[in-house]
Amino acid sequence: VAPPKGKPKWLRVKLPVGQKYKELRSVVDKYDLHTICTSGSCPNMGECWTEGTATFMILGNTCTRSCGFCGVKTGRPEDVDWAEPEKVARSIKLMNIKHAVLTSVDRDDLKDMGSIIWKETVAAVRRMNPTTTLETLIPDFQGVTRNIDRIVAANPEVVSHNMETVKRLTREVRIQAKYERSLEVLRYLKQEGINRTKSGIMLGLGELEPEVIQTMEDLRENNVDVVTIGQYLQPSKKHLPVKEFITPEQFKKYETIGLEMGFRHVESGALVRSSYKAHKHIL
Ligand code: SF4
Ligand code: SF4
Repeated sequence: VAPPKGKPKWLRVKLPVGQKYKELRSVVDKYDLHTICTSGSCPNMGECWTEGTATFMILGNTCTRSCGFCGVKTGRPEDVDWAEPEKVARSIKLMNIKHAVLTSVDRDDLKDMGSIIWKETVAAVRRMNPTTTLETLIPDFQGVTRNIDRIVAANPEVVSHNMETVKRLTREVRIQAKYERSLEVLRYLKQEGINRTKSGIMLGLGELEPEVIQTMEDLRENNVDVVTIGQYLQPSKKHLPVKEFITPEQFKKYETIGLEMGFRHVESGALVRSSYKAHKHIL
């Protein structure tokens, strides 16, 4: 299939606007705070920040994995910064964030796979920002329950883990991950008492409609409450190509199907990212 040329009109980037956005932007610049929203130049910043939501990455910015779709640097990660939990908590306070999404690179190099920093970050955010709610968008921790248990014990309002794509394309899209293992992580989280579990997939990598529906069914079978579905965009020429731009009608169709399947929330649209409208997913 020939790659599609040029972005369709529905992918034209929304410009961040509004007073609240401007205020936050100046705080972020002044204190040199690190959010995924700014480092990824996310088109939803105006909307999310106005609603008091932002996403923070922990455990450095170098990942031990090399997913074909992801723009994060791969290689030997930096040493763990034990002051990071406090720094993130302070950023959330300075930005006056009501609902924070925490995520991390994968740290397969560490014995605890980063789960201790994860736990301490949630605790520090709670201490410094007692009214802020939290979503933790976690790696698979290679399915090791001892590590996942640290997240469960920290008790965030929402725990998410992304499938990213359908079963057939998992090897190509995220080589070091496994489709079944990701489902097991989601099942385990729910079984251990996490109130809201959530997952996300990207479209446009060559998946077929029945495969998308099957993935949604697999998530429901494992009691996942929320699903996000967005358009894959190639971060650079070295990354997997976009095979298809999914139409707004098709995104809408998946939303309808998802709600019929029993998901509490389905965010489905071209510009949807896994943390888009995240503040709604606690409800
Ligand atoms: Fe930030 Fe996520 Fe919202 Fe983008 S969708 S602005 S990364 S919270
Ligand atoms: Fe990117 Fe996450 Fe894959 Fe690392 S594990 S390359 S951060 S998607």
